[in-house]
Amino acid sequence: MKEQLVAKKILNWYDLNKRILPWRKNFSLQKRQYYTLVSEFMLQQTQVATVIPYFNRFIENIPDLKSLAKVENKKLIKLWEGLGYYSRVRNLKKTAQVVIKNFNGKLPGNFEDLIALPGIGNYTASAVLAIAFNKPYIPLDGNIERVLKRYLYLKKVNEIRKDNIIKKKSIFGSSSRSRDYAQALMELGALICKPTNPLCNQCPISKKCKSFKKNDFDLTKNIKKNIEKYFLLKVYKKDERYLLIKNTKFNFLKNLTIFPMEELSKPKNFNENLNFKMSNMKMNIKIQYLRNSKKFQSPYWISEKKLDNYMLPSFTKKIVKYLERN
Ligand code: SF4
Repeated sequence: MKEQLVAKKILNWYDLNKRILPWRKNFSLQKRQYYTLVSEFMLQQTQVATVIPYFNRFIENIPDLKSLAKVENKKLIKLWEGLGYYSRVRNLKKTAQVVIKNFNGKLPGNFEDLIALPGIGNYTASAVLAIAFNKPYIPLDGNIERVLKRYLYLKKVNEIRKDNIIKKKSIFGSSSRSRDYAQALMELGALICKPTNPLCNQCPISKKCKSFKKNDFDLTKNIKKNIEKYFLLKVYKKDERYLLIKNTKFNFLKNLTIFPMEELSKPKNFNENLNFKMSNMKMNIKIQYLRNSKKFQSPYWISEKKLDNYMLPSFTKKIVKYLERN
């Protein structure tokens, strides 16, 4: 199938089947750019269905780039609470500040400037250029990669290497409706060419799809190595309150409020009290109850009864709940 025909078929399908998402409506240019930026940061590690209520709440509270640049961190983190990967929201605010300072409050519409902004990599820069600026970019997210791999039946290790995938995406051609086309490809992956049981009988490009012809939809997995780590978590309790500190030590949950912790290397006879999974890290946590909390310069003392009033990562909340149960 010629590239332009592929694009046409996918766009026709999209026009009839696209989901109505809060960041997809018809907005002024400025709003569209801001909404695309916020939604793309949220979608970096999170599913569409989870993002929708967060996005609506975020926009309601922080309606534009200017307010984002000067929003209080406390409010910002509260609005992000539950989405995880907090470095995303810190970078989002930093990006807003740079755009206000260096680009006169307008999101830059070229790849080099976008990719230099905090938290924006190849994928997000391409997505913003396509969706917010209608430029001919195809952002390679997991959905689009899956469609491409199945359509061309790319299974061998050298075929699924990133550089080859980038080269092969030219089979999707382009469209003057770049904004819609990028989203149409993502939507096709999300709704039709699903990870398991793709709905090929509803797919607009099934005729030329190699996986469909071979009736083989298995994908070669890129195995992300799981890592296992061990932590000693220190609990100081006074008058029904727990001591927490700001995390400046670990790369995960950076600058957020956690229990004091120490990483242990290859412990002997480690009997963990609880486990926690964070991205590809399995955390084995042993709890140590201690008394003398004087060494902490600016601790936060939190009460379990008021847990919902605090701006805490779910990791910390889960630990508090565990402590209360045990
Ligand atoms: S025909 Fe099936 S496997 Fe091929 S792209 Fe469409 S949904 Fe995916």
